[in-house]
Amino acid sequence: MKIILLGAPGAGKGTQAEVICERLSIPAISTGTIIREALKSGTEMGRKAKSYMEAGQLVPDEIVIGIIEERLAKGDCENGFILDGFPRTIVQAEALDKMGFPIDKVIDIEVTDEDIVARISGRRVCDNCGAIYHVRYKPSKVEGVCDKCGGTLSQRKDDQPETVKERLKVYHEQTEPLKEYYQKQGKLFIVEGEEHIADTTRKTLAILEEAQS
Ligand code: AMP
Repeated sequence: MKIILLGAPGAGKGTQAEVICERLSIPAISTGTIIREALKSGTEMGRKAKSYMEAGQLVPDEIVIGIIEERLAKGDCENGFILDGFPRTIVQAEALDKMGFPIDKVIDIEVTDEDIVARISGRRVCDNCGAIYHVRYKPSKVEGVCDKCGGTLSQRKDDQPETVKERLKVYHEQTEPLKEYYQKQGKLFIVEGEEHIADTTRKTLAILEEAQS
């Protein structure tokens, strides 16, 4: 199954992607994670993306479209994939439609801006493997240490309050119109993001299981 997870930054797309990835044994592809890795290893793409990312802006379409084209060509995407954080603009969605991977379901996780700001302040990410935690909703067993790999957990630079406001503005202006885009294709499913992650996961999986029958 080919799935897109839509939603504002901090709505919980990454966490849902982790669960679906395990449940359906298909890779979860996060453009944000790919860009952060490129930044860490100092590649040319990472250098180009850095200033946009740190300012809470979108990285130019041609860069992210290139990233996704390259990633979807890999063998592990043959049985499907979950896209987390792509597409984020109409131009990206149109490019994806042309790549020849017909999407089955688009799940939009809806959370109010107020809740987003509160949630993002508690988000922590493993510096080593990228696993996502939340100090209140999904704490690691040992504070500051990743359960999966023992890496150090830290707050993303772009999760600071001022940058979050900018990311939300960009989301409403450039990404939200994708809801209508996929609604017209008959692929959009809306999930109200719940306070407890497990409740959101239950709703998300119910939609995906429906899709398989
Ligand atoms: P994320 O981890 O999905 O919140 O992405 C973090 C940042 O990476 C975003 O704020 C953008 O700067 C950049 N980014 C990730 N995905 C995209 C995309 N599809 N288009 C443009 N920029 C992106």
